[in-house]
Amino acid sequence: MFGSTNWELAGMILWCLGIAIWAVIRWRPNRRSRKTKIAKTSRTPIERFSMVVSTLGLGIVPAVWVFTGFPQAFDRPTHPVIIIIGALIFAASLRMFRITHKALGAMWSHSLDLREDHKLVTTGIYEKVRHPMYTAFWLWALSQPFLLSNWIAGFAGIAGFGTLYFLRVGQEEALMEERFGEEYRAYCQRTGRLIPRFR
Ligand code: SAH
Repeated sequence: MFGSTNWELAGMILWCLGIAIWAVIRWRPNRRSRKTKIAKTSRTPIERFSMVVSTLGLGIVPAVWVFTGFPQAFDRPTHPVIIIIGALIFAASLRMFRITHKALGAMWSHSLDLREDHKLVTTGIYEKVRHPMYTAFWLWALSQPFLLSNWIAGFAGIAGFGTLYFLRVGQEEALMEERFGEEYRAYCQRTGRLIPRFR
């Protein structure tokens, strides 16, 4: 009943819908974050570079493909099951964004900053995981090869966010350790980076 082109289109529409919902989830935290004063920032050139690469991979490269078809030479066929899996992964990612924004509140920042009177959040999802928002970004990146039936647009997110993740996570932990010392070291002992720690 459904030709593969319909499912390719469905994947693109679901991807756009996912981005739109993500923008809605981010709207208020973004506004609040602009009003909350920054006490210390680690926005180094490497940090800025990785934010650009990540935005390219999760947003710009897929959007160019969705809206212009470029690079068409890397298009591939898809299957309804692949699209459905992609939609479920993106939905899980959005749920995770919502949960993490609620838990982090005013401590959230899209880069590496410490707020005035910064508090270490160790409750809710942060009780078990140190970087659940990065888990959400990984899920988003992982959903793209399923939703976008083009090799470049599909895998750009994994490459782009992967670059940001590996360049940032160590720096972020160093910043937190510098600020919270023993409290943060103990917190690291009982949590996992992206998923809970099993023992
Ligand atoms: N890495 C976290 C947060 C991402 S937002 C996650 O993936 O969920 C990045 C900002 O959050 C950084 O500026 C950092 O200062 C702040 N941050 C990270 N972990 C935090 C925590 N447990 N409590 C409070 N702020 C935190």
